[in-house]
Amino acid sequence: MMAESSEEPKFALRLIIDEEKEKVVLAEAGRDFVDVLFSLLTLPMGTIVRLLEKHRKSEFGCFSNIYKSVADVGVDNFETEACQQILLNPRSVKEVQCKRLKLNINPTDCLKFFKCRSFAACNLCSNFSGSECVCGELMDQEIDLSEEDQVQNDVDGVFVKGRSSFIITDDLNVYVGSTGLVLKTLSRLNCSDVSKLGEKFLDIGIEEIVTLLEYMFSSDSPLTDTFLKKQSPHDVKNIPKLLSPCVKVKTDEPESEFTLDAVVRKQDMKILYVECGEDFVDLLFTFLVVPLEYLCDINLGCIGNLRRSFKDLNVDTSTRCVLPYYYKCQKQLSDITTEEPPFYYRYRNSNPSQPDYSLTTDPDRSLLYRKDRLVPVTLIDPKCRGKDQSENGSGFIKRGTRFTVTDDLLIRATSFVSISIFVLNKLQIQADDLEVQAIRIRKAEAMSLMRASLLTSSALNSALWNLIAKKIKEET
Ligand SMILES: [Zn+2]
Repeated sequence: MMAESSEEPKFALRLIIDEEKEKVVLAEAGRDFVDVLFSLLTLPMGTIVRLLEKHRKSEFGCFSNIYKSVADVGVDNFETEACQQILLNPRSVKEVQCKRLKLNINPTDCLKFFKCRSFAACNLCSNFSGSECVCGELMDQEIDLSEEDQVQNDVDGVFVKGRSSFIITDDLNVYVGSTGLVLKTLSRLNCSDVSKLGEKFLDIGIEEIVTLLEYMFSSDSPLTDTFLKKQSPHDVKNIPKLLSPCVKVKTDEPESEFTLDAVVRKQDMKILYVECGEDFVDLLFTFLVVPLEYLCDINLGCIGNLRRSFKDLNVDTSTRCVLPYYYKCQKQLSDITTEEPPFYYRYRNSNPSQPDYSLTTDPDRSLLYRKDRLVPVTLIDPKCRGKDQSENGSGFIKRGTRFTVTDDLLIRATSFVSISIFVLNKLQIQADDLEVQAIRIRKAEAMSLMRASLLTSSALNSALWNLIAKKIKEET
């Protein structure tokens, strides 16, 4: 399947083409390619922003603005430097699986471990160099995992198993291939006359996969647009989908609630911007680490088809959005869960050529190391400094900070005097024409805001209009 190349791996992909219409009818691919296609759904949204900007020089709705804001807000407003880094380079729990892909468009380094100089007394580790230990020292001495823990088991396949070949339609439905299915697809697409069909073999690499990623959001025929046409995705007409008003979901879990001040133009009740505290900004920043597959109900381009196929063919059937442990925030959506931090033991290396300590996950390695020499080590929360470790899971942003967020989700830690004057000036309106409304955001609105970030550049108004509208009703 993989072509010989010294640079990057390439895939051979076989396309069946309707030559008259210059359209891909279907593609035949092996498991390796389907795994790569499905891996796109496991990418955190911030990673998609970064890849599209890097390879395609294109922006990605409000998500690009949130991502930009992480850099622009300034490291001083974050609890620690690591907070900014884990948002600019989001990580996912599926990274370990993705390392087995034949072509990984988002290669990541393995998480490293760092200790302070008083490790023997503190017994704490951080996954991020430069974290502050409870003893006040910096954790910047790297500590190795035991060799056994570094070995990756050689499992067959990544997301799909077996040796089958697969059929991929132009709108990204993926099926296990069979003659019956091919015939059915041909007749559904009015291509029963096979004399009009041609074949094309392509070698595709990272650039093509990122192009396909971009078309997945904007086109109803991403394979045709990626492999047969030379136009840029910006030319593809994307029909904006209207958002349905939020439906209140009843749940037993306690809901996080965010309170904001919406600055509204009275004339049309449009939200110009909101003023908020650090918890709402933490929520918006969390959007960047949510993998694409969990953006519920997205009916955009061909994402829905690919997502359905992924659910049908994936060996892993869990449906919860799970993030690495260090993304846990004090207030977060009940739909988003974080992993428990993994647990390690330290042992002293007897061999003087090795570093003094190593870490292991397995407490029963009594044949190699005497059990009494294994000491439990706790991973610290990289969002906390030194002694604050006891107040676990605060957030990315320093507590007590106020922000403004514009309709297209640019987040600024800015003076309210200057933004009010800027807005009044820009819109040429009087101070009397504005009013401030306190609004409460719960799960339903937050989910709808996350979806709106992808679909429109007017995210606040699309997702929160009903909160403002309600207020008018109450007053009349
Ligand atoms: Zn320490």
